[in-house]
Amino acid sequence: MAYIQFLGAAGTVTGSKHLINTGDASGKNGFQVLIDCGLFQGPKDWRERNWRDTPVPAKEIDAVILTHAHLDHCGWIPRLVKEGFRGAIYATPPTIDLCGIILPDSGHLQEEDANFYNKKKKSKHVPALPLYTLDEAHASLQYFKPVQVGEEIRLSSELTFRFVRAAHKLGSCTAEITLRNNGQTRRLLFTGDIGRVHDHKVAPGKVVHSGPQKGEAADLLVMESTYGNRQHPKEDPLPELASLISATAKRGGSVIVPAFAIERTQKFVFILKHLIESGEIPRIPVFCDSPMAIKAVEIFLKHDEEYSEETRNMIRRYGSPLEWPGFTFALTPEDSKKINDVRTPVIIISSSGMVTGGRILHHLAQRLPEPKNLILFIGFQAPGTRGFAIKSKSDEVKIFGDFVSIRAQIAALEQFSDHADPPELLQWLRTFRNRPATTYLVHGEPDASGKLRDVLTQELGWNVEVAQYLEKVEVG
Ligand SMILES: [Zn+2]
Repeated sequence: MAYIQFLGAAGTVTGSKHLINTGDASGKNGFQVLIDCGLFQGPKDWRERNWRDTPVPAKEIDAVILTHAHLDHCGWIPRLVKEGFRGAIYATPPTIDLCGIILPDSGHLQEEDANFYNKKKKSKHVPALPLYTLDEAHASLQYFKPVQVGEEIRLSSELTFRFVRAAHKLGSCTAEITLRNNGQTRRLLFTGDIGRVHDHKVAPGKVVHSGPQKGEAADLLVMESTYGNRQHPKEDPLPELASLISATAKRGGSVIVPAFAIERTQKFVFILKHLIESGEIPRIPVFCDSPMAIKAVEIFLKHDEEYSEETRNMIRRYGSPLEWPGFTFALTPEDSKKINDVRTPVIIISSSGMVTGGRILHHLAQRLPEPKNLILFIGFQAPGTRGFAIKSKSDEVKIFGDFVSIRAQIAALEQFSDHADPPELLQWLRTFRNRPATTYLVHGEPDASGKLRDVLTQELGWNVEVAQYLEKVEVG
């Protein structure tokens, strides 16, 4: 009997890892493939699971199918390789290119964290070790094998798969898996993360194709549920964005935007260009302060097959964002520091997105105390992060060991999410050609997954369950 085991993103939104074993439930004799191999992030009791071995030894796993290049889906790959995995990691070419940036960066951060703890002697493990190093992350890239969207790949005599678009980020896909054993054929669909519907007003700034592939069929569906208990605001955020920026510039202030270097920064840059060229905001200098953002723009330009029509038109008209007049991509720390000297209104987009580290820190240390400035959040801020404290309008926040008072204007626009919400998921599921025998919800906090299960059961009459960590389910 083949089975699926949920090794991560069950009961939480991170650590996506789902094992298919075509052998019996004892885990023997089957072909074993992992769908995604993500890092646990966030609370400590989840992060500690990054240090545990997989229930099946890594060297016995035959292949990985990677849906997209977010750390919570791909960030454990270097560790899997370190533990002895030597199979193929199948991913789309843009996903492979993006992993080429973010996995080495993650290895670098792991090393930095270990060094920090060793210096402060804060770790009970002496010396503290990185989960994997920059070099180990680089070494893991050799196992990636490019797969085009729609191309059928035979993994074993029993398993084939193909990718279809999920429209969650550049290169992101859903994995359609066909399992043939015991004289039966079953179709397993793993959504990865699901992007939003194509509507400029509800999902602005799309750089990639919008909306997941319609008309799917599945006997068993494993679906994300990140936004299972929330709905995105439906109003167009661009007028509010334009008025926030214009008002700040008018009073001589600057706009500081914490944003993830990959994807979110690119989208926001396209939106700003649109607002500047349409005259909705004044023509003030824009600084993208992140070396990773430059590499990410280059990858975006390489994969023009993924653009939305709006983005394609903008690039046709204005060329590469890296060469737009008035837009500066800061590469070196010196370039970054020079932005501090600019005292006329500017827009600064910098990472990290949740202000947990990176160059955004020195921009905020300098500009948070001045009421004329605006700090604008365009992404989720997890509780416990500096971004959450600033967004919650605390009086002060600790940066580089000093308390910095928060007197700047604080604003947040919630419409820029890359995850479909329940109405959008229902809209997609209603296009399915059949009703899956069971739908397992993963990649959600318990409340989000539970609420989405109730909605899907009521609205569609489907059999929906919330996947449990390490649970095994038979798939025939
Ligand atoms: Zn994702």
